[in-house]
Formats: sequence, C-alpha cells, structure tokens
Amino acid sequence: MGKLNVKKLAVITGFLVLGLAGCAVNPVTGQSEIALVSDREAIAIGQQQYVPSQQMQGGQLLIAPELSAYVEEVGQRLARASGVNLPYEFVVLNNGTPNAWALPGGKIAINRGLLVALEHESELAAVLAHEIAHAAARHGAKRLERDMLTQGVLAVASIGTEGSALGQEVIGYASRGAQLLGLKYSRDAEREADFYGMQFMTDAGYSPQGAVTLQEKFVAMKGGAAAASQDWLASHPTSIERVENNRGRARELMARKPTATHFGTAEYRTALTRVTEAAPAYEAYEEASALLEVGSHDAAISSINQALSLVSDEAQFHGLRGAIRMAQKRYGDAVTNFDRAISFDPAYFAYYLHRGAAKSKQGKRSEAKQDLERSMQLLPTAQAQELLQEISAVPR
Ligand SMILES: [Zn+2]
Repeated sequence: MGKLNVKKLAVITGFLVLGLAGCAVNPVTGQSEIALVSDREAIAIGQQQYVPSQQMQGGQLLIAPELSAYVEEVGQRLARASGVNLPYEFVVLNNGTPNAWALPGGKIAINRGLLVALEHESELAAVLAHEIAHAAARHGAKRLERDMLTQGVLAVASIGTEGSALGQEVIGYASRGAQLLGLKYSRDAEREADFYGMQFMTDAGYSPQGAVTLQEKFVAMKGGAAAASQDWLASHPTSIERVENNRGRARELMARKPTATHFGTAEYRTALTRVTEAAPAYEAYEEASALLEVGSHDAAISSINQALSLVSDEAQFHGLRGAIRMAQKRYGDAVTNFDRAISFDPAYFAYYLHRGAAKSKQGKRSEAKQDLERSMQLLPTAQAQELLQEISAVPR
C-alpha cells in the first residue's frame, strides 16, 4: 500500500471538487442526467491519465507504425460518425492480452493481442465504435460520479495505490489511471455501448455483422482455454444473449442502411502484416518471460535470443533480456540490453527504471539517479521512488 500524502490528495481532490452538481443532456442517449463531472473535467481526466495508462499496459507498439496509423484512421472515421465531438485519440499497445479500453474524453487504446484475434476491418470497427460509445455516452464519467457519491473524496483518493498490471506499484497522479482502467461498466452501459457502437459503425459504412462475429469470437474464447482473454472478458462480459442482441440490431441497421456492407478483409490483413509475421517472435518472448518467472535463467536467455533473431527491433525483447541478465546479477550486460531497448523505444518507463537499478548496483549513483527520475516522469512507481531514496541515503 502506498502512503497517502497531502500533495497527492490535493491532485486527486482537484478533479473532484471542481464539479458541482449540474444537469446535462447525454449526447448519445439524449436523456437528461445529473452531471457531477463536467465534460471539460472528463476530457481533462482522460488527457492527464492517457500516457500513464498506456505505460501501465506495456506502452505503445512501435514495430508497426503503419498499423497504428491504420487504427487511428479507422477510429477517427467512426468518431466522426458518432456525431459527438471529443478529442478522440487511438493507440495500439504492446500487450499480448486481447483487450481494449476508453478513458473519459475519448482516449482509446487497443492491444496487439486483440488485433491479432480479429479477421477484418469491420470487427476492428466494432471494437473501436464500442469504446467510442462508452466515452461519448459518458460511461466512465458516470462511474466516477457513482464512486464520488458512495465513497466520498477521501476513500477515492486511497484507491489505486495497490498495484498495477505490471506488478509495479503505481503512485501519485498515475494511481488515478490505474483506478480508471480497473473500473467495470454496468451491464446497461455495455448494452448501450453495443447498441450505439453498432449504429456508429453502420453510419461509417461498415457492415454491422462485424459486431456479431466479434461477439461470437469472444464466446468461443470464453469456452476455450484462452486464459489470456480474461482481462477483456472481465471488463466486457460476453454471452450468447449479447450475440443474439447484436444479431437483431444488425438486421435492423442493415434494413435501415443497406449500403453499409464494408468488411475490409484485405485491408485488415495488409495493415496487420508486420505483427502477423512477428507472431512466432512474440511467442518466444512470452516463453522467455514465463521461464524468467520460475527462475530458469539460461532457458529464458535461449528463448529471448530466439525472439531477437526473428525480430531485432522490438524494444520489449531487449528489455526482457536485460531483466534476465539482472536476475543473473550480470549488471553490465543488463545495462547494454536496456540501452538497446531505449534506442528502439525511448518513451517507456520500465527500461529507465531497470537500467537505473542496474547502474545503482554498479555504484554509478548519478547515472542511476538520472534514469530513475526519467522513469518517474513517465510513470511514478514505488520501486523507483524507493531506489531514489536509497541512493540519496548512501553517505558519500
Ligand atoms: Zn464495453
């Protein structure tokens, strides 16, 4: 548990005390509702939490810039079709779990692990339009409001300091992002996001069938042994009922707009080429990661070497090799690996954190301090903070 300090509390309450209760019309449903978090605040929260939330989930995928551009393009097309004007952004995260999320204000992310499970552009459109609908209908903001009403400011401030997806304890302003990512929408919100998301994708010219085949895939994943899909399934409960609902909705939308027939199978395959080709390398990486976890360091090195022989420009592979060398107490080698990771991805906190830890072990205090401070700027973690305190406590 992180200690709750006064500065952090001030940052968090800053979000909450701004908004006094007002009444607003929901831009998607057209219904009047109480708005404790104004649109301006929702946008500010999403903007502030977007980068730390990406960092917590593996950072951006950099080996396939053409794929990121493609996802952004499809996303912006759907955002225009939604008719709700938010500062939408779309990024692809370097994370093997099939998942996607939206922060308030339209800051959206989709994982590499979900992209590889899809077959055509209309399935991608179904995922992105669903997330757009969550943001446009203020589902995240409404969840924050519910927390404010039931728990009060102090209780909210202490949540989110317990850890993150990476096993790094996230502290300070970023803990708010951890909390936002952990929140589950209600079943009603899910139904609403499917309903309006399918409308947005159809308005953009996509076949609404993409939302049906997408749900069928999730049902199959749930039935199979796909443990990796738990994250997505936990935040987006899937069911036969949902497939049936989407089938009915698709029939209705196709009758209303018979020209919405775009599937985009070839475009999707082309955009995904680099990631599809890299699949065996990511498999070897996952294997190396599991081997490190159980302490089989030599086997882990051989798996990560295999990954690197297939794809040499993936920062995560160099980063994991560095982590294995750290575990073997080979700090010089570890630093070399983190140097390479940073040369391919200079914007991911973990490489600086671990290089700082390695340099600290080597007794290079000022270099270590520089790295740890950089990692804190990207994502404040308890581990980096503790190492910084250790360094400054050592007598010169
Ligand atoms: Zn959802």
